[in-house]
Amino acid sequence: MTYDLIIIGGGPAGAAAAVYASRKRLQTLFITAEWGGQSVVSEKIYNWIGTTALSGNELADNFKKHVMANAEGIVGAESAGSPGSTLRVKEGVKVTGISKNDSVFSVKTEMGEEFLAKTVLITTGSSRRKLEAKGADRLEHKGLTYCASCDGPLFADMDVVVIGGGNAGFESAAQLLAYCKSVTLLHRSDSYRADEITVAKVLKNPKMKAVKNVEILEVKGDKFVEGIVYKDKTTGATTELKVSGIFVEIGQIPNTDFAKNLVPLDSIGRIKIDAWSQKTEIPGIWAAGDCTNVLYHQNNIAAGDAVRALEDIYLHLNAR
Ligand SMILES: Cc1cc2nc3c(=O)[nH]c(=O)nc-3n(C[C@H](O)[C@H](O)[C@H](O)COP(=O)(O)OP(=O)(O)OC[C@H]3O[C@@H](n4cnc5c(N)ncnc54)[C@H](O)[C@@H]3O)c2cc1C
Repeated sequence: MTYDLIIIGGGPAGAAAAVYASRKRLQTLFITAEWGGQSVVSEKIYNWIGTTALSGNELADNFKKHVMANAEGIVGAESAGSPGSTLRVKEGVKVTGISKNDSVFSVKTEMGEEFLAKTVLITTGSSRRKLEAKGADRLEHKGLTYCASCDGPLFADMDVVVIGGGNAGFESAAQLLAYCKSVTLLHRSDSYRADEITVAKVLKNPKMKAVKNVEILEVKGDKFVEGIVYKDKTTGATTELKVSGIFVEIGQIPNTDFAKNLVPLDSIGRIKIDAWSQKTEIPGIWAAGDCTNVLYHQNNIAAGDAVRALEDIYLHLNAR
């Protein structure tokens, strides 16, 4: 069978697209490795519109329930779905490649399966680049975090560190300065990648400190973060800072490897899209959410972008 559409990814973008695809009665296959996306690890999400607060796990459950209420069922499993629906769901499996033959796309999975479709929507998001330093893995979510807007308020009146000298690092620092006792930004090189206006504005705050040319050696703490040890790369001197929170902003790694042989990516691996329609440079493939080269990445934005893509895919299939 050749589907109208294959959606890849089960975060907010993919889930939103799946619900819209089903309601538009497109013959759709939805494939995801996991449900919920990146913020599934968050204890509380306060800005998912229409919900005052919910955990990342609740968000993932809600996505699955909403998609399954519009789906025929899960491929290869007994599952409660909606008989007669045009949406089929394949969960727990990764897509490993996409290719194009004439006007039909072939999507392959790690299980060796192949699915065909007239159009593809990629919503595979991204993963945070992880801090590689002693203790960093062990203390993740125990004071070491990758999201200031989610976890920042838990560190009110405490001393914290931000690692990273790009816009994300400085914007995280700006948020944290609103309620933390002090914020120290540690950056690995001699110059910041963030724009000058943001840097100047953030560094002006009396609660803010910044140290350049730094190598992070160790995150210290027993059950929770208690400090961080870094080396000054110019002098070789090591310093230990007592802090309760560490916010890591050293970049994202888009989950786009499987598409790179077909779909043009930017210099950091994000899928290049036309923000008007979410089209990629390959006719028949759209992308939305954190795997794309848009400026801001949030749950609501990912869902909205995917809905825009779906509207355009529908017109492409039915009216153009
Ligand atoms: C710790 C953390 C907390 C956050 N908290 C908030 C918050 O409070 N509020 C907010 O608005 N934003 C928050 N964000 C940002 C938000 O999570 C992202 O902007 C959003 O998840 C992007 O959605 P997405 O659907 O584009 O991609 P993702 O959420 O990254 O989802 C990608 C999906 O694709 C699947 N996938 C990946 N590769 C493959 C593959 N090869 N084959 C099949 N499936 C694949 C994944 O399993 C996943 O289901 C947070 C981010 C992080 C890291």
